[in-house]
Amino acid sequence: MSADVLFAGGTAVLPVGPVLADVAVRDGVITAVGEPGTLAADHVVDVRGLVVLPGAIDVHVHFRQPGFEYKEDFASGTAAAACGGVTTVCDMPNTHPPVTTASRFRAKQALAANAAHVDFALWAGGTDLFELTEMAALGAVGVKVYMNRSHRPDDPYAAELSMPDDETLRKVFWLAADLGLPVAVHVADHEHEARVRARLQAVSTTDARLVCRSYRSDGVLDGLERVLAAARDIGTRVHVAHASLAPTSAIGMIAAARDAGGNVSCECGPPALLEDELDTLGVRGVPFAFPPDDADFYWSSLADGSIDLVATDHAPHSKADKDVGRNNVWDAPPGYPGVETSLPLMVDAVLSGRLTWRRLVELTSAAPARLCGLTTKGAIARGVDADLVLVDPSTSRVVAADRLHSKAGWTPFEGRQLSGALTATYLRGRLVAQDGQVVDGQHMGRFVSPPRWVSERGQSC
Ligand SMILES: [Zn+2]
Repeated sequence: MSADVLFAGGTAVLPVGPVLADVAVRDGVITAVGEPGTLAADHVVDVRGLVVLPGAIDVHVHFRQPGFEYKEDFASGTAAAACGGVTTVCDMPNTHPPVTTASRFRAKQALAANAAHVDFALWAGGTDLFELTEMAALGAVGVKVYMNRSHRPDDPYAAELSMPDDETLRKVFWLAADLGLPVAVHVADHEHEARVRARLQAVSTTDARLVCRSYRSDGVLDGLERVLAAARDIGTRVHVAHASLAPTSAIGMIAAARDAGGNVSCECGPPALLEDELDTLGVRGVPFAFPPDDADFYWSSLADGSIDLVATDHAPHSKADKDVGRNNVWDAPPGYPGVETSLPLMVDAVLSGRLTWRRLVELTSAAPARLCGLTTKGAIARGVDADLVLVDPSTSRVVAADRLHSKAGWTPFEGRQLSGALTATYLRGRLVAQDGQVVDGQHMGRFVSPPRWVSERGQSC
């Protein structure tokens, strides 16, 4: 049977590394990967001179819908994703209302289904074991656990999502292990953090560096130790969210747990923002700005496998929301938009010698697909969805917020010149973005979920 589309003559980054190869697609699925000139199709896309990557999977985004649509929604967030080479996003449950029940899960699923430019998956949240089970049955990719507490009054959802104590955390770990789902943990030690914040706030209310450091205080390590112990005792698949929001020694602790046989992984965003940049960015760079040595450490941890995958924690806040921190840096919400700039930053890292293409694909596609059980995603291989990103390595682009698609309308990487340019994004074989613009009228993103499993009692869940 002949293919619909052939991506011909490019350098495809396969699981084994970059290879000159043609990629054939039929009905949105890769049917063959072969030597150039050996495959045929009705339609040929000439990709000579380009690198062909599997679409990135961002397992940690906040698209804010429902409840905070002025910050972002599924249409704008997935437009940003498509233009940034991200073909699957996994949205976090801290919307308003938070996704802590099956009915809210269904409601969010419906909102996204009508708007998404790329495929999407949803994390379940909360502590209600019955509702978590129901959300697993609906196709949640995992459970998100928050050990932190909000310290700002404008977080109406925080209490319902936060773990009240370790006993509850362990119950959720037990359930997730039973359900065969991963638990993504925002690791924190609330009381220690509150003490550190109080101490640093007394030092300065204008130094954004101190806010970054408060998130990376030693107290996080106590929380991490408790999480790793629970994961070990119970056998839960645990994923540490934004592992760079901790002292650098956290990476070694996670690696040790993994080496000891634990089913543990961790993520960070591209560690591309340095502390010095906070002089001009102020709170807009909080909390992922690092001293140069720490940034180098995270880059090498991404390269050597100590950090398993890249996820952006895309946190679109309006300029006004962030600029609340102009008078007092401690008042601004944490995080910045990142889903559209992440893969370009990673490509730049490859072209500047920090990473290999093979490692990039592991970090941005293969490992995220494994974490979330997305068996039809994450590689250029036969039988996998034809989610493909074309990269021109011979040129460069300058990051400019007015070309980006998040409602946030700003980026901490404004003006950054990045080697390589994403020229096109394909979702299941169809063009969804080209040269930084989404293809008009395309909302072909679908809900994706891990394959359904059958319980010991024989019930399909
Ligand atoms: Zn987050």
